Amino acid sequence: MSPHTPTWQTELAAAFTKPSELLHYLNINTHSVSTLAEQDFAMRVPLSYAACMEKGNLNDPLLKQVLPHANELIQQADYSSDPVGDLSALTEGCIIHKYQGRVLFITTGGCAINCRFCFRRNFPYSEVQLNKQKEAKALQYLQDHKDIHEVILSGGDPLLLNDQRLESLIHQCAAIAHIKRIRIHTRLPIVLPARMTDNLIGILNNAPLPIILVTHCNHANELSEHVATACFALKKQNITLLNQSVLLKDINDNVNILQNLSERLFNCGILPYYLHLLDKATGTAHFEVKQATALKIHQQLQNNLPGYLVPKLVKEQAGKASKTLLI
Ligand code: SF4
Repeated sequence: MSPHTPTWQTELAAAFTKPSELLHYLNINTHSVSTLAEQDFAMRVPLSYAACMEKGNLNDPLLKQVLPHANELIQQADYSSDPVGDLSALTEGCIIHKYQGRVLFITTGGCAINCRFCFRRNFPYSEVQLNKQKEAKALQYLQDHKDIHEVILSGGDPLLLNDQRLESLIHQCAAIAHIKRIRIHTRLPIVLPARMTDNLIGILNNAPLPIILVTHCNHANELSEHVATACFALKKQNITLLNQSVLLKDINDNVNILQNLSERLFNCGILPYYLHLLDKATGTAHFEVKQATALKIHQQLQNNLPGYLVPKLVKEQAGKASKTLLI
């Protein structure tokens, strides 16, 4: 690495946080666009993600995922701040326990990118901030619940933790005898591939338990050559790579777009895993694709692709014992 190559931390610090700057970078006239300037869920877009957008195109499918829009202020009756019932399943120690055998471990509230449709955009991360005390409680919870076999490091994005912290968490979870696998839910290989450093890959490769890395990618345009290189480096170390997507109105609600996504994911060493219906978080209604439309698109996908490239169409409902399969 040349001394001038930016590290992932400097790339992260330089992310676009103002709509006007991002639009300027994309050669889009800011006067023609109605965006939300400042709000609780601020804009954040790393340059490596913005570089995958088409210059001059306000309807770019990646730009639409991240550009704050006045539609976010529209209130809808069936939308809420906690659409999937995270808070009622949250223990004192940053563990969300909903399903048999596996739990989510909320490791950080930070993300490298703020997706406007995020189901946790209203999550009270400041109250759930992981500290030494909460970490001890989380590990005790895992220790006490012998039926938990899989820990899902989540957030926010767990790969925003520094390497030492991440390694320590992985090893502490792995030291619990009944934990058999560690899953990491992350959008970083897609939006900030520079995070996939040799050191991080070494940590994952040397983990005492199998690591399953579940990426979040919604459109083939997100999968640049840089992303593909990062994913292949992970794949080479026998790390299982799966992807989940969200079905988003006017972004990927089309069989050709989803077919391209599945094929491109496969070419990057990633298998499509879930296609989620939108979780109804306040401020996200303009992204919703109705279930009937989703089922039609999914049927077309099944017609066009081999089964291993067809993600499961699911929705998450608060209080249910698992995700609901829609086919
Ligand atoms: S990366 Fe995931 S958790 Fe972070 S803002 Fe996007 S959808 Fe939400």
